[in-house]
Amino acid sequence: MHRILLCDPLDESGLEIFRAAGAELHQLADDERERLSELIENFDSIVVRSRTKVTGDLLRRGRNLKVVGRAGIGVDNVDIQTATDLGILVVNAPTANLISATEHTFALLLALARNVPAADRSLRDGEWNRKRFLGRELDGKTLGVVGLGRIGQAVAHRARGFGMTVVAYDPYLDASVAKRLEIEMDSLEGVLAVADVVTLHMPLTDETRNLISAERIALMKPGALLVNCARGGIVDDKALFAALESGHLAGAALDVFEVEPPEDTRLVHHPNVVGTPHIGAQTREAQERVATQTARMVLAALDGSLAVTAVNLPFRAAGPAAEPFLRLGEQLGRLASTLLGGSLKKVQIDLWAVEEAVRVPVSIAAVRGALRPFLGETVNFVNAEKLAEDRGVEVVRATHRKTSEYPQLVGVTVSGEGGAVEIAGTVFGEADLRVVRYDSYRLEFRPEGCLLMLRNSDVPGVVGRVGTLLGEAAVNIADIHLARGPAEPSGAVDAVAVIRLDQRPAEEVLDRLRALPEVSRAQLVDLE
Ligand code: NAD
Repeated sequence: MHRILLCDPLDESGLEIFRAAGAELHQLADDERERLSELIENFDSIVVRSRTKVTGDLLRRGRNLKVVGRAGIGVDNVDIQTATDLGILVVNAPTANLISATEHTFALLLALARNVPAADRSLRDGEWNRKRFLGRELDGKTLGVVGLGRIGQAVAHRARGFGMTVVAYDPYLDASVAKRLEIEMDSLEGVLAVADVVTLHMPLTDETRNLISAERIALMKPGALLVNCARGGIVDDKALFAALESGHLAGAALDVFEVEPPEDTRLVHHPNVVGTPHIGAQTREAQERVATQTARMVLAALDGSLAVTAVNLPFRAAGPAAEPFLRLGEQLGRLASTLLGGSLKKVQIDLWAVEEAVRVPVSIAAVRGALRPFLGETVNFVNAEKLAEDRGVEVVRATHRKTSEYPQLVGVTVSGEGGAVEIAGTVFGEADLRVVRYDSYRLEFRPEGCLLMLRNSDVPGVVGRVGTLLGEAAVNIADIHLARGPAEPSGAVDAVAVIRLDQRPAEEVLDRLRALPEVSRAQLVDLE
């Protein structure tokens, strides 16, 4: 049963998901907060909002901690580096606010374009002045989207419904994405020069701080509108105020400010500014979604799913379709490393025609699998590469074009003092994993369950003798796969047998197998 500590309040919808999964929940009471660093060792996950600071010390005290759930997007209150070093997954709810922030962008833009707040105020003051509130339409105008991520794309999509033409700037977006979305991309200067409305949707980073400076505002069309529903600090508030005062910009709509709440209130009082107090994500739906997404992510991460969108995974979540390949990489790594037996020095991953988005995840999965036989459950996707590095294990990845035999092939070769072992496999259909090569032997078996791997000389009667020995020990054979190597100059032929067993035989049975004159090696690999 999963034990979850809720450090900050979570919407009831999230709690229901935890309860339905049979998790044991403990809501941290205010008078327990001081003892948090003692209590944490009893839980395998903690869930926080922004109030609780998940420091490195706290994480180290959480001896059983596997997952930190951050109910929201920003993870500045979590020590990600320490979590990564300790192999603790940090999951959040990155898309929960998407629609709310997108819709708020339009709420602000339409309010600005049609003077809604000022008109409302004047009506309340008893006026009926229609001439003062001459607005402008969005139809036929050009929207410049700066930052074409999740929200930028959703804004661009909706803008088309208003009859707007969209141009965008995002230096980190793969060109194929913009092409698929049929959005014209341009330089920042190009976008600023043509847009009637510029809307910002990027994070605040060293690079984006004050990106919309006095110089860049000067590049904007005279009479243009600016919307910032992303992060304060991206716009130089003083430069914006000056541009509104001079009339170069006709208006600005702001949900976020350099300092929140703003100390310098000149902008919020400006007649051509529509402002809201950072409420882009403040909707019932978003709050509920934050809670349900976080609860689902925490549970999936605790259950070992490979498709979680963890903040500190060394790759983007590759999606459920990639999961069989991740499992394949892991099982091949485990199998190869168990067969190697001795110390591991190098893991080489060869990928033939494997989809680009899956290459890094599958490689990390193979490293995780290769380390698991001797590091156990402490190694996970978050820390696999780091643990390999710490232990001096070299990791090499190579991609190749398609082979003639299989549409996609993953090979894992592990080497160390005990020599080298190579295992290659593929995925049949949607999720049917198969090993298709073991060193130079070609054979086909599923990398699962308890496998007895034999090396023997290819002479009659071996399989019978092995079967009898296992039968006497009451160990049932589920299936058996044989392959034969090339003949040596002496005429001798080596063979391998992969025998899936229903029960794990005692060590003494393995010793008796190893004592058979035809058997040169007998190894047991438990792949569960
Ligand atoms: P995202 O990560 O999906 O997209 C951000 C995009 O910005 C990425 O495509 C990235 O390539 C791009 N980018 C990074 N640096 C850039 C640069 N220098 N110039 C141009 N583009 C750059 O994020 P998202 O979920 O779409 O969120 C966008 C912004 O909205 C974030 O800052 C987020 O914090 C903010 N946000 C605000 C509210 C609110 O309450 N107002 C709510 C949700 C999100």
